[in-house]
Amino acid sequence: MERKNAWLSYDEAAKKQLMDLGEKYRLFLSRGKTERECVKLAVAEARAAGYISLEEAKEAGKPLQAGDKIYADIMGKSLALFTVGTEPMEAGLNILGAHIDSPRLDLKQNPLYEDTDQALLDTHYYGGIKKYQWVALPLALHGVVAKKDGSVLEICIGEDPADPVVGITDLLPHLAADQMSKPAAKVIEGEDLNVLIGSEVVAEEEPKEGKEPKGSVLKNIKAILKEKYGIEEEDFISAEIEVVPAGEARDFGLDRSLLIGYGHDDRICAYTSLVAMLAVTAPKMTSCCLLTDKEEIGSVGATGMHSRFFENTVAELMALTGDYSELKLRRALANSRMLSSDVSAGYDPNYPAVNEKKNSAYLGRGLVFNKYTGSRGKGGSNDCSAEYMGQIRRIMDDAGVYWQTAELGKVDQGGGGTIAYIAANYGMNVVDAGISVLSMHAPWELASKADIFEAVKGYEAFLKNA
Ligand code: MN
Ligand code: MN
Repeated sequence: MERKNAWLSYDEAAKKQLMDLGEKYRLFLSRGKTERECVKLAVAEARAAGYISLEEAKEAGKPLQAGDKIYADIMGKSLALFTVGTEPMEAGLNILGAHIDSPRLDLKQNPLYEDTDQALLDTHYYGGIKKYQWVALPLALHGVVAKKDGSVLEICIGEDPADPVVGITDLLPHLAADQMSKPAAKVIEGEDLNVLIGSEVVAEEEPKEGKEPKGSVLKNIKAILKEKYGIEEEDFISAEIEVVPAGEARDFGLDRSLLIGYGHDDRICAYTSLVAMLAVTAPKMTSCCLLTDKEEIGSVGATGMHSRFFENTVAELMALTGDYSELKLRRALANSRMLSSDVSAGYDPNYPAVNEKKNSAYLGRGLVFNKYTGSRGKGGSNDCSAEYMGQIRRIMDDAGVYWQTAELGKVDQGGGGTIAYIAANYGMNVVDAGISVLSMHAPWELASKADIFEAVKGYEAFLKNA
């Protein structure tokens, strides 16, 4: 059985819609390079569509009605949006979940140092990266600096074309004989991911009679950090600064059918889920779009899917509808249906050996469903029920959505996880869904505009009909 390619089905009007959606996503991806930035962008779009914050809803003191739109975030890094349905929440929610953290390099708490007339920042990588991919390319610094007085500075250096960029150097091939004979995991090691940020040497102190002044790169860099960005060296202790590829996402391919960008995993599913969420204004079942943090490191911490944030927020929402009890909350969670959306590995003709062709995801063939993920003997997988998969087939086919099924690579080739198994702990039906990408977890990933288009259609159909 082979699934059809969606491109064959598009007329000129559909292609125009698809390209317009691709451009909106391209801008979102270019501006949202950290989980915090993605939350801000999503909240702005939600507010423009009539959503209000949970706090505002509480202050208003009016019971929530069908069609009311509420959002809540935790620490600015994880976001839940809800549109109240006509059915009681106890009957379960239709949930679209995706993650908004992406692999990157984080600055260490004490990152700044000088070595041999260069100023550098020490990093600790976040998520699964091939370290050798992060050298010799322009990088940007995004994040926040929390000052002792409680104020928080937002940092974004390297995105404006007038900004400088930073980066990590690689060794010239002429001197790389030893390096090139190492296994790829050792070519660039974690502790060597040091970001070069300056090289101008200034006099350390006022020149004294008959004495050469001592030179310093750090002195100048510290002055720039302070004057231009308001950062003192000690402020790095309470900062979250992410080193990410600099520059915008771009159309890719002579036919412009693809997008290349940093962080498709998993902002491509997050953005398409958000678009569908905002489009479905009067759902029968209460809709939820959940954009979570920390997936790439195990969904841990207060802002990851393992936290109580989601169920606490559902409890708050039920209380606002005037229909809360502990038992009703448990029932609402257990009766819910979810698409846990995360990127799939697209079949890559450059690397056919890792895939089994019948059960691979293909660019352009639409939304990908993974009944199970995991590794080895389905280890760590949420293996969704056949009955739920049957319901999903019906919803997608009835809505004319292009979709396909896949596993992540051949049996025993590797594997991966998502947030599906965590939500499934409540007893709800959850299936992994998402969009296939090439070069996953590389600084620049690739995805098909057709799949973005089909994903939005699929997510909308799910919110309306699950
Ligand atoms: Mn992912
Ligand atoms: Mn990932």
